[in-house]
Amino acid sequence: MDYLPLFFKLDNRTALLVGGGQVALRKATLLVRAGAKVTVVAHRVDPELVELLEMNGGQVIVGEYHAELLDDKYLVVAATDDDELNERVHYDAVERHMPVNVVDNQPLCTFIFPAIVDRSPIVIGVSSGGESPVLARLLRAKLETWIPQGYSRLGQLVGKFRQQVKSTFSNVETRRIFWEKVLQGQIAEKVFAGRDEEAHDLLVTALKHADPEHQVGEVYLVGGGPGDPELLTFKALRLMQQADVVLYDQLVSPKVVDLCRRDADRVFVGKRRDDHAVPQEDINMLLVKYAQQGRRVLRLKGGDPFIFGRGGEELQTLKEQNIPFQVVPGITAASACSTYAGIPLTHRDYAQSVRFVTGQLKNRTSDLNFEELVHPGQTIVFYMGLHSLPHLCEQLIAHGRAAETPAAIVSKGTRPDQQVLVGTLSDLPQLQEQAKLPAPALIIVGEVVSLHENLAWFGEEVLHDHGLIMPDPHRVTD
Ligand code: SAH
Repeated sequence: MDYLPLFFKLDNRTALLVGGGQVALRKATLLVRAGAKVTVVAHRVDPELVELLEMNGGQVIVGEYHAELLDDKYLVVAATDDDELNERVHYDAVERHMPVNVVDNQPLCTFIFPAIVDRSPIVIGVSSGGESPVLARLLRAKLETWIPQGYSRLGQLVGKFRQQVKSTFSNVETRRIFWEKVLQGQIAEKVFAGRDEEAHDLLVTALKHADPEHQVGEVYLVGGGPGDPELLTFKALRLMQQADVVLYDQLVSPKVVDLCRRDADRVFVGKRRDDHAVPQEDINMLLVKYAQQGRRVLRLKGGDPFIFGRGGEELQTLKEQNIPFQVVPGITAASACSTYAGIPLTHRDYAQSVRFVTGQLKNRTSDLNFEELVHPGQTIVFYMGLHSLPHLCEQLIAHGRAAETPAAIVSKGTRPDQQVLVGTLSDLPQLQEQAKLPAPALIIVGEVVSLHENLAWFGEEVLHDHGLIMPDPHRVTD
């Protein structure tokens, strides 16, 4: 580390700026933003700079620089194009043990200006130690996009409560948990959504009801999407990276689970080798148990938590136990698989509506209303329908949907080993018997399926041996 990053308190303190051009103006703007009273000395001073100083209690000296000007100042910046003068300023300052910056001349600086991300009271400075200011600026630009503007207002809000929280929680550990919950929970989310007043009221309530000895955690019910980690939402990723414990099942792809915080505890609640999944009631109770330990619990679901995800049941239990929660939608399999297979779910000419239906059979028959499903102009997407494929196709035909209606299976949609099998209601079960595409798989029925021949964007040769089996895009681009 060539420079020690420090934050310099300049509020109402005096600073000297030697030079009166555009570069000096940029530095003056920064100094003024930090509350400094800036004196500028130069033979010619940019009118904009004069105006800035007038508005901020600064001073303009039109004339020659001399060392006595440093006497009552806390720091000095030289921003002239006169090398000799810049050097003089440097030596005068060093002699007085005073911090000096000579713009664009690193050897003459005892401090440098970092690239700044300003979310006051949060301020981030990025420095390359003078080696590459452009690189520092590029990094700053990345941080700018990554850190929500709301951080500034969040910082201001919690600043107001700092003392009060300190006196409520004498125990450092419970105070830390309380602040983490505020800064990463509902209250922060409200601020990011621009609802500062609601956030303020929530914080007041949280503080009023806080138990100084015991803190309840929070549950995030998050849709992890269909498999491709790039289909996660920013919000899902953010919560995944702050959770203390993660509960997931086999529908969540390992690549998505990998993106959870490294040191979070991971609890698999899917089917084990004996083929028994953890019962839903036990999962509900686990969520409650972890949250009551003050932990931030991530319940990571495949696709969207509210589409055949039993998310509603989990929330019901949390509600009963007074555990705070957040829900983050995910891209559901129907949307993702159809897109990655080049099958639009609706189309002006072929389908004006789409239905998401469970294909799971109860006692070997389904209680689906097939009369409704055979209406023309609608696409049907069966979740959990692979086992009942013959039954579903047979019933749709029996209730009047044409036997040659196009139908497709999308297996492991959006994953590197995605496969698509295309046929018709009459031959798809037989094609699948040969192809044996594995679960998880989705069945799409309707005229829109025929569009995939033109719209599939994988670009690889299509195999015709049993219908169409299309490999995944990732393999193509490798
Ligand atoms: N909540 C999930 C669905 C859970 S039900 C969602 O919104 O996507 C489980 C069913 O979803 C599976 O039986 C399968 O039909 C479908 N499914 C989920 N992920 C899939 C994938 N990557 N490819 C194909 N089907 C998928």
